[in-house]
Amino acid sequence: MVKRQQYKGKTLYQCEACSFMYNQGELALQCEAYCKKHKSCSLEITKKAVRV
Ligand SMILES: [Zn+2]
Repeated sequence: MVKRQQYKGKTLYQCEACSFMYNQGELALQCEAYCKKHKSCSLEITKKAVRV
């Protein structure tokens, strides 16, 4: 399950598998689906992650 978090007034979405944060829920869902399927992260997806 993607977790919603408030960070500096913005809503971020966190992949539960790898803990990367995204500003779009859709990206977090993609990341989580990939992480769970492959047991690792997709660089294509994680490069869109928000650095916090
Ligand atoms: Zn992930």
